[in-house]
Amino acid sequence: MVTMATSPPFQAVLDRIAEEIEQLPGRGRPADYIPALAALDPRRFGMAVAEPDGAVYGVGEWRQPFSTQSVTKVYTLALDLAREGDALWEHVGREPSGNPFNSLVQLEYENGIPRNPFINAGALVVTDRLHTRTGNAAGALLDFLRAESGNPELSFDKEVAASETAHGDRNAALAHFMASYGNIGNPVPVLLDQYFRQCSIDASCADLALATGFLARHGIGADGSRLLTRSQAKQVNAVMLTCGTYDAAGDFAYRVGLPGKSGVGGGIIAVVPGRCTLCVWSPGLDERGNSVAGVAALDRFTTLTGLSVF
Ligand code: GLN
Repeated sequence: MVTMATSPPFQAVLDRIAEEIEQLPGRGRPADYIPALAALDPRRFGMAVAEPDGAVYGVGEWRQPFSTQSVTKVYTLALDLAREGDALWEHVGREPSGNPFNSLVQLEYENGIPRNPFINAGALVVTDRLHTRTGNAAGALLDFLRAESGNPELSFDKEVAASETAHGDRNAALAHFMASYGNIGNPVPVLLDQYFRQCSIDASCADLALATGFLARHGIGADGSRLLTRSQAKQVNAVMLTCGTYDAAGDFAYRVGLPGKSGVGGGIIAVVPGRCTLCVWSPGLDERGNSVAGVAALDRFTTLTGLSVF
């Protein structure tokens, strides 16, 4: 049994997790509603841990870029919250939805105000507001990720963005519906273009573990500047814990015990405030859209190290 010393032996923990994941039966299926992601082999796996000072450890395909998808919703939330503060919460809630990430059903009952910023409807509102403030939401996000990961090579995947645009009826419906309530400020086609480009960014586990570091450093960016107030960093972590894995957030908190955010590319980021950030990637998803091996690996990480918010 690997136990936590004053400095956790992250490399040994990661090596052990990779060995265990190798044996994992039934790894789910890649997201086939986005044709450009459907061909990914569910046995692929990588995982990275970054310490607040930027030291990074990894195992498997931890330097392999993958489609970040909804993981990016954490960063757009942070970017918008930093600009407009609490006024954001008049346009999007912060309660778990208990419904699938692309569900339309609650929006009509709740007058076009999405439950939280991590379901698609809520992320569309956040991206819309960020776009109004910056003139280029996807570009602001890419600049942020490049700066925080230290990787200037990060870029949009045009094929994935085009694939989502071609199969984007559900997101278009969400955006038009919210626009009818006055909760979208930009023309819907402009917003969808920004949102699909946002979701198409490719990055590796190492890149995302590093880019998430500001949430472990209580709002401080990679260069030492303050990105969020300490309180806002706590708020983003709290919304990740309660809403970051959609209608599986309760089970994720039970098994992993960390703020986390998944994406249908198979990535999941997680934060141990003050200690480290994690990113795991494996493209086989469960029926709620979360990586099967990814959740299992994070479950093992918090069990082996004892690092959790509980
Ligand atoms: N781009 C995907 C979509 O909008 C993101 C969903 C996800 O990763 N959960 O459907």
